Amino acid sequence: MYLEQIKKLVLLQDIDNKLIECREKLENLPKELDSLRSNKETMENKIKELEEKLDFLKQQKEKLKFEIEENDSKIKKVKNKLMMISNSKEYQAMMRELDNFERLNRTKEEELTNLMEDINLHQKDFEALLAEKEELESRIGELEAKLDTELKDVEQKISDLEQQREDYCQSIPAPILSRYNFIRERLSQPVVVAVSQGICKGCHISIPPQVFVDLQKGDHILNCPNCQRLIYWEEFYSEESKES
Ligand SMILES: [Zn+2]
Repeated sequence: MYLEQIKKLVLLQDIDNKLIECREKLENLPKELDSLRSNKETMENKIKELEEKLDFLKQQKEKLKFEIEENDSKIKKVKNKLMMISNSKEYQAMMRELDNFERLNRTKEEELTNLMEDINLHQKDFEALLAEKEELESRIGELEAKLDTELKDVEQKISDLEQQREDYCQSIPAPILSRYNFIRERLSQPVVVAVSQGICKGCHISIPPQVFVDLQKGDHILNCPNCQRLIYWEEFYSEESKES
């Protein structure tokens, strides 16, 4: 009778553990999707920022190219004029002007090279982000398709377990059941624990010798004097399991 009750409590505990697991799962399942969605939002903002940056850099590039071309045509014009000038003072002034245009263009060419490098780097980042976003979107799609079924499965499992628990509880004497429920509401897992070599496996503290002697008698269900969990002598259970 005593062992029967202990066994029932351990089985009830199994059901409750499964229930806890299922409820955690039910809570956590949508979380992954939520966090992926928020990752996607962050990514989209980054992509938008990069896009704007790239647009700006490309505009700068066009502007620089235009300026360089303009300068080039000015240089050409000056060079053409130079051929027709015989006055040395005027010639020198034009040479200086030519020099200035050429120096200016060299600076602008350098600027353009740097700008193109910058654009390339940003373009690579941009493409990498787009690929990442695509991957994320397909993962979200997968999860969305799965989530509904999974949630329904877990809900079904919970309702099965609850039914099982209810049926089960009817076979456990009310005072024992209420002791079990009382502890379950107040303590972290587990509720029913073995005592091995005089030590409670719930709180890992030795139980007093007298309690241990009583426990070994197996007359009634005891609580650990320290943590209040329901305890049974390990040997009882293992011998019984070996027999059956
Ligand atoms: Zn204990």
